[in-house]
Amino acid sequence: SPSRMSFNYGGGGKTTGRVPVGIGPRRMRIVVTGGAGFVGSHLVDKLIGRGDEVIVIDNFFTGRKENLVHLFSNPRFELIRHDVVEPILLEVDQIYHLACPASPVHYKVFFVWVVMILNDGFHKTNVMGTLNMLGLAKRVGARFLLTSTSEVYGDPLEHPQKETYWGNVNPIGERSCYDEGKRTAETLAMDYHRGAGVEVRIARIFNTYGPRMCLDDGRVVSNFVAQTIRKHPMTVYGDGKQTRSFQYVSDLVEGLVALMENDHVGPFNLGNPGEFTMLELAEVVKEVIDPSATIEFKPNTADDPHKRKPDISKAKELLNWEPKISLRDGLPRMVSDFRNRILNEDEGKGL
Ligand code: NAD
Ligand code: UDP
Ligand code: UDP
Repeated sequence: SPSRMSFNYGGGGKTTGRVPVGIGPRRMRIVVTGGAGFVGSHLVDKLIGRGDEVIVIDNFFTGRKENLVHLFSNPRFELIRHDVVEPILLEVDQIYHLACPASPVHYKVFFVWVVMILNDGFHKTNVMGTLNMLGLAKRVGARFLLTSTSEVYGDPLEHPQKETYWGNVNPIGERSCYDEGKRTAETLAMDYHRGAGVEVRIARIFNTYGPRMCLDDGRVVSNFVAQTIRKHPMTVYGDGKQTRSFQYVSDLVEGLVALMENDHVGPFNLGNPGEFTMLELAEVVKEVIDPSATIEFKPNTADDPHKRKPDISKAKELLNWEPKISLRDGLPRMVSDFRNRILNEDEGKGL
């Protein structure tokens, strides 16, 4: 039916849709939900940089206009303040769906302060927001990419994690609103793919860091870097022997675009297999930012996964993608951004 056709090229966002038609190269029109956030804003830079039209939908829950302000005068860029929980009508070729209240502190705060209402909001964004974007993709025939997460593996009993692993998630634990929210989003995406023929792509993103990360979102890399710049001790939770694998944001953006432009639904793990304990991470931060940095131990939170490391053979083979930037090379690239923002904050406080 005509309503299933892509508005722009009838290409459903396929790479072939970018072939020039008559009057020179045609651009794609791409929606990035959550585009004012950390990963989203870097993705938008990449898409604008290669010549596409980008519409960002963001409610600024954790995102910031500052992340996009350098694009405001670009005629190929549009920013819409909108909550994806509400339906929206747009005509686009591709949808990168990143909107999600992503940071652990925010959801832990929900549990401490307003368990029912905001927890509902958390799960609701993942469920209703994803549903609306899938409905939009179905209506206009756009290709839809979901940014899922390694947290779908929960506290994994398989190491490293392959995409075939189903996960070990506590459905009623403190983290479950995030884990289960993303698992539901994956289910919805596959429903729309199988049932309505939507071209779906699923990325399972592992811990990512870089400039524009929220300063105080409670994630370990942003905490350690901000603490070290502020000359505070780095807070190591538990014994610090739990592991994570940290990916630099530009590697992730390359992976997301490769996935969107390829023919495979996924899911694909996108992460850097270099695995570090939190104590080792603290050592690296110390080495590359400030040799006089110190650590202090704090009690860990419940249900904290003991280890996490992606098996990325599938993405290597089918997307021809792998991360290029090691932790030692990536960390220094976020320091000046963090320094500037911490300095501005202090000036704002009149310090
Ligand atoms: P972020 O918090 O910086 O970005 C999320 C963005 O979504 C923010 O700009 C926020 O304002 C927006 N948003 C939230 N709820 C919304 C709503 N209801 N309507 C519209 N916009 C809304 O987080 P991020 O680290 O950039 O994460 C981006 C995506 O990648 C998320 O889906 C996240 O789950 C996923 N992911 C990130 C990591 C990571 O390490 N950064 C790891 C796994 C998965
Ligand atoms: N939707 C949207 N924009 C669109 C098309 C759909 O926001 O362009 C929303 C729609 O409001 C609904 C959801 O996406 O809440 C799922 O749409 P679908 O058509 O799949 O389901 P239905 O409306 O038939 O329940
Ligand atoms: N962590 C830590 N100190 C901090 C923040 C986090 O030791 O200041 C630990 C946390 O307990 C977890 C790991 O770092 O084991 C990664 O936490 P993060 O919230 O960054 O990511 P996720 O748990 O979602 O992988």
